[in-house]
Amino acid sequence: MPDTAPERDRLSAGFIAGNQLDAAADLIGLESSMRQLLQMPFRSVAVEVPVRLDSGELAIFRGYRVQHNGARGPCKGGVRYHPEADEDEVLGLATTMTWKTALLEIPFGGAKGGVQVDARHLSPRELESVTRQFTKRIALMLGPYRDIPAPDMNTNQQVMAWMLDEYSAKFGYSPAVVTGKPIDLGGSLGREEATGRGVMYVMQEFGRDFDIPIDGGRVVIQGFGNVGAHLARLLHERGARVIAVSDVDGALVNEQGLDVPRLFEHAYQERRPVPEFDGGEAIGGEEIWTVPCEWLVPAALGSVISREAHAETIQCRCVVEAANAPVTPVGDKILAGRGIPVLPDFLANAGGVVVSYFEWTQNLQQHPWALEKVTSELHRKMVAAYEAVRDFARDRDVPWRIAALAIALERVARAERLRAGW
Ligand code: NAD
Repeated sequence: MPDTAPERDRLSAGFIAGNQLDAAADLIGLESSMRQLLQMPFRSVAVEVPVRLDSGELAIFRGYRVQHNGARGPCKGGVRYHPEADEDEVLGLATTMTWKTALLEIPFGGAKGGVQVDARHLSPRELESVTRQFTKRIALMLGPYRDIPAPDMNTNQQVMAWMLDEYSAKFGYSPAVVTGKPIDLGGSLGREEATGRGVMYVMQEFGRDFDIPIDGGRVVIQGFGNVGAHLARLLHERGARVIAVSDVDGALVNEQGLDVPRLFEHAYQERRPVPEFDGGEAIGGEEIWTVPCEWLVPAALGSVISREAHAETIQCRCVVEAANAPVTPVGDKILAGRGIPVLPDFLANAGGVVVSYFEWTQNLQQHPWALEKVTSELHRKMVAAYEAVRDFARDRDVPWRIAALAIALERVARAERLRAGW
């Protein structure tokens, strides 16, 4: 069988943010005007990003920053560099950030940014130039009490350092304007692994409640970047058998369990292709969806489990949305029909924004926390959100995504009413 990925649905805003929204809004009796308000962005900006390439040629990219909602606090959300990052996708992801910050009860709203560029083809100097030009053009929207970017796909600590430098040159030293910074520039201990760690905490709680083992449990992960690699490492430390992982170059399987610490060094730290690792059988990237497991964790792209792709055939006891929007609305329904629960993205992958919040508070107070404090507070936040969703889902007999959305919608709508008297 050729290893070509089925055509993925485009990540549209309606797709990402509208998945089950009406069902959740119906559950809490949300009035239609409030639904409308909460589906539209507060502010959306599109900019040009002109960059002089190393070849001497001038390239113009498109950049976006969307602030979806700021009723509960400053807008918060990552910046991704990706050829598919258009205004519609960025709006959908910004909306998800609003639900995520509300569900985790952190005092932020939702935002997202993106530059439509294939970062793999940029030199470090070109990447810096894209970042500085983009930051210049959206700087007026940013600020520690307005909108606080963070890393996302193909952006990292270095990109945040450039954003901070560009913003501070204009407005003065402002470490709290971005999170996910290098530690030496005011970053938080534990931020780099926070998303993977949060996913692991949610899996531990779910596994305990629904009798799916972590210790000895088989795990398959799509994506071995910041989220997937740290998650694999943390699960391996707790006895899980990580039997297959993939990256953009393909996948690797080993039924006995991969040697995760060595793979982490090879693929994450040394940035070499996963399938070139010597501790397993190299397979095509799409083949990981056929590997039976207890925990199936998409940790790369959106829309990978849909009607056309894998929803009917995956063999697992739980899908954990470590990536943003990996299961499409139709995929959701198919999995529900097959009795496979989906732990929704804005619960499962919220660890990153939680520790971003801790980083922001440390910056504002100029008082760094010890790592133990970061991890114990992260654990407390993730477990509280998990329990709220679990109890709501059980009491109202609804899927986890709808339960999580209903809780978040209720909180955001309450803040909107109190703030503006709508
Ligand atoms: P990253 O850029 O560090 O890593 C992405 C990984 O996905 C890489 O290993 C890449 O090779 C792999 N990949 C890309 N295309 C693939 C394909 N077709 N098949 C298999 N693997 C492929 O990104 P990240 O920060 O780990 O983010 C991954 C996902 O998690 C994204 O959806 C992101 O929005 C989401 N997320 C990230 C964070 C965070 O803190 N980094 C927080 C919440 C959600």
